[in-house]
This record gives sequence, structure tokens and C-alpha cells, in this order.
Amino acid sequence: MKFMSEYRDAESTKKYIREIQAISTKKCVIMEICGGQTHALLKYGIDELLQDNITLLHGPGCPVCVTPLDKIDKAIKIASMPDVIFCSFGDMLRVPGSSEDLLSAKARGNDIRIVYSPMDALDIARQNPDKNVVFFGIGFETTVPAVAMAVYRAFELNISNFSVLVSHVLVPPAIEAILSSPHAAVQGFLAAGHVCAVMGYREYIPIAEKYKIPIVVTGFEPLDLVQGIYMCVKQLEEGRAVVENQYTRSVKKEGNIPAQQLMKKLYKTVNRQWRGIGEIADSGLQLKKEYGAFDAEVKFNLRNILVREPDNCISGMVLQGIKKPTECAAFGTACTPEHPLGATMVSSEGACAAYYYYRKNNEHSA
Ligand code: SF4
Repeated sequence: MKFMSEYRDAESTKKYIREIQAISTKKCVIMEICGGQTHALLKYGIDELLQDNITLLHGPGCPVCVTPLDKIDKAIKIASMPDVIFCSFGDMLRVPGSSEDLLSAKARGNDIRIVYSPMDALDIARQNPDKNVVFFGIGFETTVPAVAMAVYRAFELNISNFSVLVSHVLVPPAIEAILSSPHAAVQGFLAAGHVCAVMGYREYIPIAEKYKIPIVVTGFEPLDLVQGIYMCVKQLEEGRAVVENQYTRSVKKEGNIPAQQLMKKLYKTVNRQWRGIGEIADSGLQLKKEYGAFDAEVKFNLRNILVREPDNCISGMVLQGIKKPTECAAFGTACTPEHPLGATMVSSEGACAAYYYYRKNNEHSA
């Protein structure tokens, strides 16, 4: 197939649904890792087309959703300092911190700018040598290479007024945390195709072996998703537990080696807080000491801000697949995309926002 429309073809998608139904004989629980996959599954009603014995749980792969509260507070603190231009992807601006979000901080007159790439932030730094330009570096392995490239260029060109508030997280430790939890119910994973386009899928092989769980690298279009689910269900029915690649048009087993080399050069692995979930060992990245001049937390001495998550938001349980968004008492009432209590309702990849926009029995459905 050559064109995107072919991956959205309703007849081909329904054909795969029928094939899933034909091979499925027992109940199974499958988790898609990526929030983009969650939105596509709900938008195209794939979860509703599957028969009752296949349950889809929504994983923690929304980078905006898992960025911890203290990072939002640190972002606001940095953005409120004199002579700072704070740059961020747009969907971080409405994520609530402990008392306000970046959009409110912008409305108070702070210079907070939406950029589409970390290199845009680096350009702003070059154009404004009398200001400190800080980029909010959130995201999974997918976005790390682009941020790493901006830091490396700043290092090479000796641009000392550029730094990054680093909040990168890694997928494999999150999968292990979910599988090690006493609440673990997941029997198969759809791994995120774009993450694997960078990292490959070799690191998932020991996880599949250790936990005896199928992992299928999957794309984002309806046909990708039903094919990934089919491959996962087939493994479960046949009693197999290996890593398979549905997204062959974009993913190679070894991934993008130059991107991985750049990541390794600049970052080290650290324990990282995940919003609503808590700390996961070795699940985050931090700039190495030799690039510490570009680490905004070091530059602005902000290492030790600790804040408490709000009690009324259960997004941590949503992100681990323990609860569905509709089981939250605040869903669609106290918490809406216009007035979000948690990041999973703000983000374009958040599970709560997906249920808000796409669920048929939701009066707010699009
Ligand atoms: S509906 Fe709102 S309050 Fe409830 S879990 Fe989702 S983001 Fe949190």
C-alpha cells in the first residue's frame, strides 16, 4: 500500500476485525502503549467493534500526561524569571501545575512561546543573546533525538544562553513497572511504532521472554491497529510470547542507530517520577555532566522542588490501565478539556480526552 487512505479503509479494517473474531476463543487484555494509538482506537470505534472478550487498556505513552507536576512548577518558575524566554510544545501550556499552568503564567506577561521544534528554540537563543532561552524537553524516545541535536548544536556553537528543562522518559521500564505491579492484568502489548522507529525493538525481546507476554510493534492507522491486535490475539491463542513487528514500513529491528548514538552521547539514564504513577527506576534521561551547562535545572538551581499530586485525579491509575477514564468521578463534570484537573484530559494524546471526545454514550461526543 502507498497511500494513507488505504490504511484507513473501512472494509479492510472490518475484514481484520472479522478475522480477530474468528480466531478469538478466550478473554484477553491488551494494552496499547501510545496515547496516539488510544485516540485512533476510540476515534475509529475499533474498541467497540471488537467482541466483548477482548479488552483494550490504555497505557502510559502520552508524554504530556506523564510529565510530573514538579516539572510544570519548575517550568513556570523558570518562565517567571527576568530575561527568560521559555519555549514549549503547545500542548504543555494547559497542563495544570500545583497552582497554575504555563498559559496563566503567559497571561501574567511572561515571555512563553510555542515552538514546533527544539531547533526553533535554539534559533530564538541565537537571535536573543541577552536572554536566557529555555526549551521544555518532554517526551519519549521519539522526541529525544531532536532535543539532543539542539543541545549538541548549542554545545558545538558555544551558545551559552540556551538550556533545556529535561523531562524525557523511556518506554521499556514503564512496561516492566506495569507488568510487575500487583494490579497487573495486561496479557499483551501494542508497542508504539514511532518509538521503535528510533529505538528498534531489540530491548523488548527480554521483556517478552521474562514476562511471557506478546509485544507487537504497531502503527497508528486503523488498519495498523487491527492488524497489531490480530497478531497479539493470535500469539495468545497459540500460547506464544514473542516480539513481532506489524509496522514494518517504518520500523527496523535495530532502529535508527545514529539517533541512538547521539542520545547515548548526551544523556544518562536516571530514576524518574511519572505523573500520578510515581518513581520508576531507570525510566528517565538526564544530560551528562559535560553537557550540564545546558541543563536548566542545574543552571537555575531547581533540583529540589517537591509537590503533591491532587487527590481527586486518578490519571495515574488510568495511565497504568487499572481504571478507565469514565470511572473517574470528575470525568466530564469537574474535569473537561476546557477545565482539566489532570494532564490526561488536556493532552491531544490523553486517554481522558479521547473518551471525552469519542465515546458514543458520552453526551460530549464529537
Ligand atoms: S477525568 Fe480528569 S480528574 Fe479524572 S483521571 Fe482524567 S484527568 Fe484526572
